[in-house]
Amino acid sequence: MQEKISEIQNQAKDDLVRAGSPEDVEKIKTRYLGRKGGIINEIIKAIPGLPPEQRSSTGKSANILKKEIGEWIEEKKAGFNTSAANASPLPLFDVSQPGVHKPYGRRHPLTQTIDDIKGIFKKLCFDIEYGPEVEHEYYNFDALNIPDDHPSREDFDTFYLGNKRLLRSQTSTVQIRVMEKTKPPIRMIAPGKVFRPDTVDARHASMFHQIEGLMVDEGVSFSDLKYVLTLFAKSYFGQNIKMRFRPSFFPFTEPSAEIDISCSLCKGKGCSVCSQSGWVEVLGAGMVDPNVFDTVGYDSGKYTGFAFGMGVERLTMLKYGIDNIRLFFENDLRFLSQF
Ligand SMILES: [Zn+2]
Repeated sequence: MQEKISEIQNQAKDDLVRAGSPEDVEKIKTRYLGRKGGIINEIIKAIPGLPPEQRSSTGKSANILKKEIGEWIEEKKAGFNTSAANASPLPLFDVSQPGVHKPYGRRHPLTQTIDDIKGIFKKLCFDIEYGPEVEHEYYNFDALNIPDDHPSREDFDTFYLGNKRLLRSQTSTVQIRVMEKTKPPIRMIAPGKVFRPDTVDARHASMFHQIEGLMVDEGVSFSDLKYVLTLFAKSYFGQNIKMRFRPSFFPFTEPSAEIDISCSLCKGKGCSVCSQSGWVEVLGAGMVDPNVFDTVGYDSGKYTGFAFGMGVERLTMLKYGIDNIRLFFENDLRFLSQF
């Protein structure tokens, strides 16, 4: 019996050496170690029929061989795995395949408008200034000569945060902050977000963008204001744009004006955007009220200045013929990729 076991041992070794694939190894495993009809199991089953003196040693040898063959099989399998890993090539780069297209990013239309306007005013030597979006009531109202009973201070026009803090409802706040720390001459614009609890519809959003401007020096007059804003409107909308200045009122400017441009969509003929009038309002402006200068410590007898403000969304809508402000904030690529 011991001879037979040695024979099986040699045979199993040979078989495994010749095995060319993991499938071959599985077959060998079944042939030698299978529970039913496996060669080792057949030997173990035959032990009770052996002469008593052979039973114990045959059982021992059969179990050792079973363990050995098991180990050889695992080694052989591991060999296949390693060679498979070594042999597996890197993903081939097929030069004839079309490339993976990565779309270019682009600036949001509102960012483009802000950048355009910044560019126009930079040419006129205006500085770009920024300020906080969470403001103190002082900067949003008091310093801007807005009286305590002014309707813009009401809850329905301003987001109050408590403790005299609020989300700024205009970027004029930045003008005050700049004047507090700078002496004239001043030329600046302040782009940024402003917040008002408006009901959202096609023309209103509770957050939108403004650009406010300020120029202060000795001898600044209303004709300077008119010159700068005309130059701006022609640069932004085109040389053929017509403008008109209408008297208006703002607490922080005196005199004040609202500025209309000829409707760029209908060329002044009348359409739904301009309410059939041929004109659209784009700017508020005026000469800085002397009270504002007194508040920031400027000599209002010596210095004069003008200020203006415009809505970035409105300017963008007019330039590109967009009829719904919500399109700017819905993050719809079908809309955004047109700019
Ligand atoms: Zn129109």
